[in-house]
Amino acid sequence: MTSDTPRDDDNAGGVSTRGLDFIRQIVVEDRQAGKNEGRVHTRFPPEPNGYLHIGHAKAICLAFGLADEHDGLCNLRMDDTNPTTESVEYVRAIKDDVRWLGFDWGDRFFYASDYFDQLHAFAVQLVEAGTAYVCDLRGPDVGEYRGMWNRPGRNSPYRDRSVEENLDLFARMRAGEFEDGSRTLRAKIDMASPNMNMRDPTIYRIRRVPHYRTGDAWCIYPMYDFTHPLSDALEGITHSLCTLEFEDHRPLYDWFLRNIDVPCQPRQIEFARLNLSHTVLSKRKLLQLVEQGHVSGWDDPRMPTIVGFRRRGYTPEAVRDFCDRIGIAKANSIVSVAQLEDAVRQDLNKRALRVMGVLRPLKLVIENYPEGQVEQVEAVNNPEDESMGSREVPFSRELYIEQTDFHEDPPKKYFRLAPGREVRLRYAYFITCREVVKDPQTGEVIELRCTYDPETRGGYAPDGRKVRGTIHWVSAAHAVEAEVRLYDHLFATINPEDVDEGGDYTDVLNPASLETLRGCRVEPSLAGAPAGSRYQFERQGYVCVDPDSTKDRLVINRTVTLRDTWARIEKARAGRQ
Ligand code: ATP
Ligand code: MG
Repeated sequence: MTSDTPRDDDNAGGVSTRGLDFIRQIVVEDRQAGKNEGRVHTRFPPEPNGYLHIGHAKAICLAFGLADEHDGLCNLRMDDTNPTTESVEYVRAIKDDVRWLGFDWGDRFFYASDYFDQLHAFAVQLVEAGTAYVCDLRGPDVGEYRGMWNRPGRNSPYRDRSVEENLDLFARMRAGEFEDGSRTLRAKIDMASPNMNMRDPTIYRIRRVPHYRTGDAWCIYPMYDFTHPLSDALEGITHSLCTLEFEDHRPLYDWFLRNIDVPCQPRQIEFARLNLSHTVLSKRKLLQLVEQGHVSGWDDPRMPTIVGFRRRGYTPEAVRDFCDRIGIAKANSIVSVAQLEDAVRQDLNKRALRVMGVLRPLKLVIENYPEGQVEQVEAVNNPEDESMGSREVPFSRELYIEQTDFHEDPPKKYFRLAPGREVRLRYAYFITCREVVKDPQTGEVIELRCTYDPETRGGYAPDGRKVRGTIHWVSAAHAVEAEVRLYDHLFATINPEDVDEGGDYTDVLNPASLETLRGCRVEPSLAGAPAGSRYQFERQGYVCVDPDSTKDRLVINRTVTLRDTWARIEKARAGRQ
């Protein structure tokens, strides 16, 4: 059964598969059928040539999640057969990221490069069986002989070499007698196959490049299509899950397992890769963004990488929840980044401490509040969770409020502060704006003179009078200065890969993806908060302390706004068109 829409009567030998995605159905059925003695063993096989992104998170949640659900195992394997692009920095980062997501590979951390000897022996097995040969065709000729999807290929003139000659040539390839690109070892399959992958694919190529782990030990390197099924078999993998682009490679995957004497027969199953709106999910392109300085690094909070998310303040729970919500299917599609942000909001809503932070401060003086007096008002830490308690926030005569919370000439439905108008200062008092002080040069409002009603402590009037606006504030003398970084989508279009001919995805980078606000003022409770601490700035969004912070400098990332303002903007825009 390979349908990805669950059916009511789905049933595998008594265990219901109802509601399961198509891969989970297959696994249940395989167990019921007694395949692999009922074992479930998966793997996550990244190539250490970049940092992991949200697409990888989907694959990780699937591989590790599936193993967990069946009391099985999941290996972490570095798929490191390409010597030119891999590095230990990436290996370390991948381990960190998988752990951060909440998964554990136990003692099963492997490198495909650890199998180089074994893989070489497997290749010799093929040569001895007459199913692999050394081919002297070079680059352009290989393509010419391979044909096209609609035109069969032709046999290589070297295809019928004897086993002895092939063994000798392959040994000399390994010994470094031939120059790079001058010969390859190829599987002898079928040059007329409608599947291009089956037209005598390359197994080994000559490359005199040191490998980040094996150094100069090898000058021939095995190809991915050969390495992958055999690594899976060597590790006892039962279900080898990968993305859709490998579907056409499956016959080759199976061919290697059939033609080589291996300890187990893993089953490859493909699922749709995750595409996320307003970003790119290709390590090559992400690396380019880093190298060309479009972002500050792999962990720039605008990057769709796990390290970027972590720095921005996303939680592993939110990322896993998102992966759960999008599910596993067989058709490619683009998932809106708003869905990811929604998962982040939902998670942070439960756990984030509410605090007051003023992003664009405007000074406010309460003329009838005694100079030098300070009182502590009680503020709720999280209205969603009483057990998180409350804290005291200092209140005094001079405060900062948000510039946008005052309007000299308020439009309709603007209920915040305006000349002569009374509003509530959150957790504190009712205040009334008496006077507006302006910069004589620029005319800009620089200070508000107000009075407060001492009877309204806690934000309620004993005479029952109501105000329509409640605004946040900080005490000027007590507040901590901070730099706050606001983020928008890295790309201005939904699908940055889809650009006009001759264009490039960097053409559609969003020039306003980062806005840095300096001189922001936040509650004193944030002083000295360690990097990674998460809060909700009331009315402004969820935030997280950035590692750029030092003892005397507080740097804050806005993780996500409180509501999906982006979706509203898009909707309004669509309405206008
Ligand atoms: P990229 O295209 O970003 O370079 P990749 O597929 O080459 O990605 P790998 O390191 O080979 O990167 O990926 C490891 C695993 O993660 C593979 O099994 C791959 O199928 C899976 N994977 C990669 N990108 C996605 C994605 N966008 N959605 C789901 N799974 C993905
Ligand atoms: Mg890959």
